[in-house]
Amino acid sequence: MNSFIKANPIRCIGCRTCLISCVVAHEGKRIFEIDPDAYNFNPRLFMVKTARVSAPVHCRHCENPACKASCTSGAIYVRDNVVLVDTKKCIGCKNCVIACPFGAVEIVETAEVQHDGSPRKIANKCDLCAGVADSPSCVKVCPTQALALVTEDDLSESVADKRRSAAVAALV
Ligand code: SF4
Repeated sequence: MNSFIKANPIRCIGCRTCLISCVVAHEGKRIFEIDPDAYNFNPRLFMVKTARVSAPVHCRHCENPACKASCTSGAIYVRDNVVLVDTKKCIGCKNCVIACPFGAVEIVETAEVQHDGSPRKIANKCDLCAGVADSPSCVKVCPTQALALVTEDDLSESVADKRRSAAVAALV
């Protein structure tokens, strides 16, 4: 089963440290020491704030990804239980943005310039920090431990807990 990152809105304070760490991890640059125009600030998780809570939204790395099924260019694929975008194949058609039930995909500008002079745009989503050391970076940096990587074992344990509770409740 694919792992995914889950946010706890009770713990999140909306500081956006997770978004910054995502950009640092994927840009591979010390972004606080360089010109803001020298890199793309394209976090792969998306902050949602309401009057009462805040929490970032991540890709759920669905087992049957609607984004992958909708992709017209075969740019979305699954490797090592992670749903990924092949940025070379992506044509920015936005089907994946429409298909994702969580709003976890967006189209972003890249540093590449197209033949008409405009920036090339591609799909951007959580890749669970594939290839990044000490990851997922957002989970590692969150100061309130509001983010957690949920694995198949974690999910099985949580389900088993709930079943135990339900069984005990049935005795009452
Ligand atoms: S780093 Fe943690 S507390 Fe800060 S916005 Fe992200 S999830 Fe919320």
